[in-house]
Amino acid sequence: MCFILVIVLCMTGCARGTSEGTVPVTEKKAVSEDAAYEETSSTRESQPGSTQEEERSSETETESETQSVPDETGSESETQSTQEETTESTTEETTKEAAPAQKKLVVIDAGHQRHQNKEKEPLGPGSSELKKKVSSGTEGKTSGLAEYELNLILALKVQAILEERGYEVLQIRTTHDVDISNAERATVANEAGADAFIRIHADGSENPEVHGCMTICQTKSNPWNADLYPQSKALSEAILEEMGDATGAKKNKVWETDTMTGINWCEVPVSIVEVGYMSNPDEDRKLGTEAYQDMIAEGIANGIDRYFEEQEE
Ligand SMILES: [Zn+2]
Repeated sequence: MCFILVIVLCMTGCARGTSEGTVPVTEKKAVSEDAAYEETSSTRESQPGSTQEEERSSETETESETQSVPDETGSESETQSTQEETTESTTEETTKEAAPAQKKLVVIDAGHQRHQNKEKEPLGPGSSELKKKVSSGTEGKTSGLAEYELNLILALKVQAILEERGYEVLQIRTTHDVDISNAERATVANEAGADAFIRIHADGSENPEVHGCMTICQTKSNPWNADLYPQSKALSEAILEEMGDATGAKKNKVWETDTMTGINWCEVPVSIVEVGYMSNPDEDRKLGTEAYQDMIAEGIANGIDRYFEEQEE
């Protein structure tokens, strides 16, 4: 009798595992907290594809509009999101009991991919202005790296440090052979309920002398997510400071702009981290070394720590 029950329970668990890409966020969290890293990474790989499908099927954006208008009542999606929030807080309470530190979810996007996608998508939800889904990015002549390669190297290094420090991390991509638009990347972070969304990039300039690091967030008058400006700005400032300190690179600025699709679609705090100029021979050479990559990753992780410390104050 007991044996049969165990088998049934096991089968239920397995079935949940295979439909991972489509289950609510709360379940994703629960699974990845319990599971080994291998299982987490398979979750990650299955996620972008399913998200793309979800993205296409919800192109009218009714759901996100409903979420951003809290006064609207009676709609099905709102009821659902309330239920999800209830479940989530229960999950978090359980987590607090299990682990002394509160687990924050950081979603990391290694910018670009092996092949760009020239198709267009709206600059922000409902926008008539269109931008390329994913551009090709820059490349380093000295390091011999393409930007999409460097971005993923750094993303994985940041993940390792953050997980060691007790964060939960979700990667948008773990290979180069994906096709995930910038809006879709933001949607993954939104649906996961990211506490911070970190988009890793490297810069390029026609002027080979330009160097240093920079972070990017929306402006305080962003048409889609101005409400997230204070957090995104604080996150961007903290990362710029810590990354500059960790690497010794010039801290250029926090660039506030509403021209980034992957920021405009965000419903969570976001920062694009430009780690340096691959067009500057000296900086590019450093970017190609593991020692410097480790310093960048450490700096980004320190910045994330600092942001959450500041938020809690
Ligand atoms: Zn880039």
